[in-house]
Amino acid sequence: MPRQSPKTKDLARAIARKRVAGLISLSEKALRDGNQELSRRYAELASKIQSHYRIRPSLRYRVCKNCGSILVPGITSSTRLSSSRGYIVVKCMVCGTELHKVYKK
Ligand SMILES: [Zn+2]
Repeated sequence: MPRQSPKTKDLARAIARKRVAGLISLSEKALRDGNQELSRRYAELASKIQSHYRIRPSLRYRVCKNCGSILVPGITSSTRLSSSRGYIVVKCMVCGTELHKVYKK
């Protein structure tokens, strides 16, 4: 198969970026409607596309690594500050996995 030209690659990435944004909003909508399975499926597809095309910003703090649910503050995730250690704790309320994000240097 011939290699993709840089132009084609950029186009593919632009389409993928739109897809990811669309899937994330669909996932949030499905979650708010109470359809958790569908929401998880959309989030899974979004993170697959994101990692394949290496789209920034990453979905590391939007999709749970362990169970694949979308992290919506107040619904499926809680955010706390650990001031003594200097990091943000994002906890998935579906499976209990915690993500740490350093904010202090
Ligand atoms: Zn989880």
